[in-house]
Amino acid sequence: MANDFQSAVGEVARFLQSEALVAVARGTHQNKKHTLVLDCALVDRSTTFRILFRVNSRRDADDFRRGVGFSRAPSAGSSLSYKGHRLYVDTINPRSWRDSPSPIDIGVVYPLDSLDADSGSVCVDDLKRRGATKIFLVTWTDNFDLTWVTSYDPYWITYDAEDEDPAYHQRVKDVTAEQGLSHHPKVPAYASREDTRYLVRHYCDRCRMSRLARLNKPYPGIRNLHDAQMGEYEATCLKCGCVALDNYNWYGQS
Ligand SMILES: [Zn+2]
Repeated sequence: MANDFQSAVGEVARFLQSEALVAVARGTHQNKKHTLVLDCALVDRSTTFRILFRVNSRRDADDFRRGVGFSRAPSAGSSLSYKGHRLYVDTINPRSWRDSPSPIDIGVVYPLDSLDADSGSVCVDDLKRRGATKIFLVTWTDNFDLTWVTSYDPYWITYDAEDEDPAYHQRVKDVTAEQGLSHHPKVPAYASREDTRYLVRHYCDRCRMSRLARLNKPYPGIRNLHDAQMGEYEATCLKCGCVALDNYNWYGQS
């Protein structure tokens, strides 16, 4: 059976009715999984839920804000009204949690990709401490080790793009296969603070050597990167800041 919109909605509904605390939402719809779980979780208008949406970085907060149609993200500790509920946003960095609300009803972590067993447990335990009764852990690309999540005995929700956009679905599948389990590639110190989804290796003309660079969009897989129109992707050298546009010359992510 396809993991389409309807089946994903059904899985979220079953999770909400269950005793389970944690659900993992995965699948190829990179940009829609988090809004799908939010929309399903907030169908009940009889009560006002407090939702804490925990993003990877402020950049993801901006993506999310646009995705749900806000002109600005709520500042630390303050909330916005979303479908009649109270929505708060912080990041996976524990230093951002000082002003985060408690109690909350629902926690959403997106994307899950940046968390490992240690940071992931700290993050989920913090949401539990704040009283969350439902926690959604939402992936970006399903190419990393999720073993640590199984200790929470989670519900599994899958939302694929196959029915709605087969070509996109296949591209994401290709990236997933290409990157394998290289979720935390070994990166040199100058790139260690970067979001690994945006990394690409290129030859920097100014440094005159191979360098890691930050893409203006998440890495789409090497074939899509090489096939892209010149100018669609920009790579900023993480060492010298030089911006390159010759995407046909770039390699993988390691
Ligand atoms: Zn450079």
